[in-house]
Amino acid sequence: MNLLLLLPEDLVGPGVARLRGRRSAHVREVHRAEAGDTLKVGLLGGGIGTARVILAEGATVELELGELDQPPPAKLPLTLVLALPRPKVLNRVLASAASLGVARIVLVNAWRVEKAYWKSPRLGEDNLRLQRVLGLEQAVDTVLPELVLARLFRPFVERELPALAAGTRCLVAHPGAATPCPRGILEPVTLAIGPEGGWIEPEVESLRQVGFTPVDLGPRILRTETALAALVGRLF
Ligand code: SAM
Repeated sequence: MNLLLLLPEDLVGPGVARLRGRRSAHVREVHRAEAGDTLKVGLLGGGIGTARVILAEGATVELELGELDQPPPAKLPLTLVLALPRPKVLNRVLASAASLGVARIVLVNAWRVEKAYWKSPRLGEDNLRLQRVLGLEQAVDTVLPELVLARLFRPFVERELPALAAGTRCLVAHPGAATPCPRGILEPVTLAIGPEGGWIEPEVESLRQVGFTPVDLGPRILRTETALAALVGRLF
């Protein structure tokens, strides 16, 4: 955790935050913070600065906030359309995407996404927020990537995706595609990444119909989270 990210519900008085649970334990056990120490903090959706520990006792940490006047880093101009991964992987990919600065994430169904994944408790709002918060804490950012769930592939691609992707370069990562993934492009991107078993051809064709170009990253087939990092590094 490179930034202690404060949530609105942590604020218990003017300029005072109280933490319990995961972040309090981290401050106590990893930072070994004591009263009087200074920590780097940010306010969810707001600025970054420092806070002084005014109480560190048992499971509670209280902080006096300084000026949180530094802006968070700019987001990448990237919308990620991600076939819903298996629940364990979902957590990692959400945190990675938030760390990398992805502006918007759409979790979409696909033929090779198991139906049971949509029923996972990890799709609960609290977990979806927590995983993105973990990514922001890692990357010293305060702004959650927007998250959209699209449970039906075709209606999403045909009716919603064209508006979401308007004005962006649209790419679908697909091993073996004829076009190599471009490098260092200076424009907003909408990038579709497939499920563990990959996109099926009719899905690639549907995406092609709404302006997506299939692109290849080379002969190595990468896991979703590795492919995401490799694609972001290559595109921006
Ligand atoms: N066997 C699957 C296939 O051939 O598509 C592998 C899927 S991979 C685990 C998950 C997703 O990561 C793919 O659908 C694709 O979007 C992306 N990906 C992984 N390696 C890639 C590569 N070498 N080129 C393009 N996309 C890749």
